[in-house]
Amino acid sequence: MESREQFQDRVRSFYLGMEQELLGIEGPANRARAYRGALMQAGLAGLSYPRSVGGQGLDPDFELAFRQASLDLLPPEDAMLTIGIDMALSTIGEYGSEELQQRFIPTGLAGEEIWCQLYSEPGAGSDLAGLTTSAVRDGDEWIVTGQKVWTSVAEHADLAILLARTDPELPKHRGITMLVLNMHQPGVNVRPLRQMTGAAEFNEVFLDEARIPVDWILGEVNGGWPLAVALLAHERTSLGQGVRTSNEAKAKTGRAPLPFDGLVQRARDQARLADPEIRQELARVYCGEQLIAWGAARDLHPSVGKLWRTIQGWRAAQLAHLIGGTSAMAWTDDDDEADYWAYHVLNCRGMSLGGGTDEIQKNTLGERVLGLPREPGAHRDTPFRDLLRN
Ligand SMILES: Cc1cc2nc3c(=O)[nH]c(=O)nc-3n(C[C@H](O)[C@H](O)[C@H](O)COP(=O)(O)OP(=O)(O)OC[C@H]3O[C@@H](n4cnc5c(N)ncnc54)[C@H](O)[C@@H]3O)c2cc1C
Repeated sequence: MESREQFQDRVRSFYLGMEQELLGIEGPANRARAYRGALMQAGLAGLSYPRSVGGQGLDPDFELAFRQASLDLLPPEDAMLTIGIDMALSTIGEYGSEELQQRFIPTGLAGEEIWCQLYSEPGAGSDLAGLTTSAVRDGDEWIVTGQKVWTSVAEHADLAILLARTDPELPKHRGITMLVLNMHQPGVNVRPLRQMTGAAEFNEVFLDEARIPVDWILGEVNGGWPLAVALLAHERTSLGQGVRTSNEAKAKTGRAPLPFDGLVQRARDQARLADPEIRQELARVYCGEQLIAWGAARDLHPSVGKLWRTIQGWRAAQLAHLIGGTSAMAWTDDDDEADYWAYHVLNCRGMSLGGGTDEIQKNTLGERVLGLPREPGAHRDTPFRDLLRN
């Protein structure tokens, strides 16, 4: 039986060769698939999933050991897979029928299918239960019509976890169903949204009578809300956990705060390491990294981890701005270094929105952890059809 230390050595040696292996592969989605396939081949994917669905059948402690060993080594391509691995597959593992688990977990674990999350809509972000995309049963299919927005990775996705309204006569939290949608079909139209960073990392997704087999449903018809919340908890855990932030590769994807080590190097390069204001802020970033690392090792509420990550992202980006001066504000296309720093300054605000805004995390902690009174005016018993909407 492999010890924890031997296992972690194996994880580290897998990742050390990985960057080289991915070099020759064209396109981020192909690289992500190849990376995940190699992880599967190495027996390092789906550690705590049962063998019957392609997992390794190991004790859940190995997941933590894996995370700790791989944290600083993950390639940027890993970020494209987190919606599938951390969110969709976890939810399918908990709520999916035996058939759905067999259909989606093995291919998801192996990176053969990339997932996106079709939750947010133009009129339903923080108020997610106000969504209006409809799914109507037609024989042995669901017909889905509506618009989703801010959908990360949709341009590469093969499958989506979708929330749709299946009964507008029921109160808004009770008429929602969670379904799996095949993104490769005529009724699905993905349009990129360009952000102020210049990148287009998320999309609008238009659904025009898209079709779903009737049994590609998670949980009960009209019973999707608790599952939606469970998936969001997985998302917050994924966003908040293990962001020990000393990983440049992860920071480059914009999915993690700028790391302390990189900021020190930057201050040194700019001959600003002796500046007392910069030293003070470096100390704050270092303390934040340590707090996140210690927090990740404890069983904190997912919203706490998510909030910490946002605070750290903003603090680190502000420091990059301070060190970089004008090069963190204005850059040219041929200056990769300045582009990298400027990207973070512009991108970090998005961290406080994706996965639920800071205010919503605080509401969640207030209501569900501290037991404060719920927000007034939620109309929890009024049929959705009769509610005033955006
Ligand atoms: C980088 C990124 C990636 C994303 N990826 C995805 C994705 O893959 N799939 C997906 O479905 N969505 C995705 N989103 C969307 C994200 O979930 C929403 O942006 C978020 O839930 C907020 O919704 P909204 O943008 O409609 O803002 P709104 O809900 O309109 O909020 C506007 C402001 O009002 C505040 N507010 C709203 N309600 C309350 C309240 N009750 N109490 C206090 N303050 C309140 C908010 O905090 C915010 O500051 C992504 C967003 C970002 C930035």
